[in-house]
Amino acid sequence: MKALVINKISFIEEKPLDLVDFPDPVPGIGQIRIKVSTCGICHTELDEIEGRVPPSRFPMILGHEIVGRVDSLGKGATRFKLGDRVGIAWINWACGECSFCLKGEENLCDKAKWTGKDVDGGYAQYTVVPEDFAYPIPERFTDMQAAPLLCAGVVGYRALRLTGMEDGKVLGLYGFGASAHIIIQAAKYKYPNSRVFVFTRPGQKEHQDLARKLGADWVGATGDTPPEKLDCAIDFTPVGVPVREALKNLEKGGRVVINAIRKTTTIPELDYAEHLWYEKELKSVANVTRRDAEEFLPLAAEIPIVPEVQEFGLEEVNEALILLKRGEIQGAAVLKMP
Ligand SMILES: [Zn+2]
Ligand SMILES: [Zn+2]
Repeated sequence: MKALVINKISFIEEKPLDLVDFPDPVPGIGQIRIKVSTCGICHTELDEIEGRVPPSRFPMILGHEIVGRVDSLGKGATRFKLGDRVGIAWINWACGECSFCLKGEENLCDKAKWTGKDVDGGYAQYTVVPEDFAYPIPERFTDMQAAPLLCAGVVGYRALRLTGMEDGKVLGLYGFGASAHIIIQAAKYKYPNSRVFVFTRPGQKEHQDLARKLGADWVGATGDTPPEKLDCAIDFTPVGVPVREALKNLEKGGRVVINAIRKTTTIPELDYAEHLWYEKELKSVANVTRRDAEEFLPLAAEIPIVPEVQEFGLEEVNEALILLKRGEIQGAAVLKMP
């Protein structure tokens, strides 16, 4: 099969993803093989490529927002039929036995394996996954639309839940990329009487226009003061400053959730009185559980969420990741298999 692999840590500007011929994967016991149709291009790939979240071996096939059809069943795999359309997300396997797994927090499992980091992912024509870690894709979505739902959507949805958001409250979103543009649609649906304020990088006019189109009640740049305090906020950005900004604009007793696997710059020093006192909370979101995906995908179909997608071919993924790093992707970037 054709696959994009990385062989070492480097900057994305060096275009490190190599298009190679790679052996077709064979599904093991309880696994299914998927003929990949689309794979979302996530900011986490930049963290893997540049070494902030290094893959556990090389070469590695990245990509963890995978949509395709089941084309081979491993021994004992009975959950899906050949030809079924399924998705694969970041969580590829968890032990099921540790204290976290037993509490339903498999996203925190120490032994968990992550798609495209510990096992080969979706930047390839075929991939395999344990059948219990695949999800039916609601019919409403095209393969292109479904891909970003599997990480940008599912992890963003987990972050939204962790904010403690309720109808009528004010929600702040810092950063307006793949995840935020999906989550604003979920928030507007679940909390119709709430205000949603969006903060982008200064000058990101197209991101701001998209935010307004998707129902943002106020749009500004990080550093701006919104018209009301934020009851809760999600920071989707890869940098440190917005964390302090969100805490500064937070209402008493509010909570900021950081939806990022790593930051490329440090969080600036916090002033206790200004940023944390009055019972303000700061929390991160780490990975996903299968339950997050199983809840979010049907909800996304019911709303229905319409992801904005930019299509790239296999030879263009390095370029797509460079654009993503610069904040120049509108909505979500998605790889379409030839
Ligand atoms: Zn991701
Ligand atoms: Zn576990």
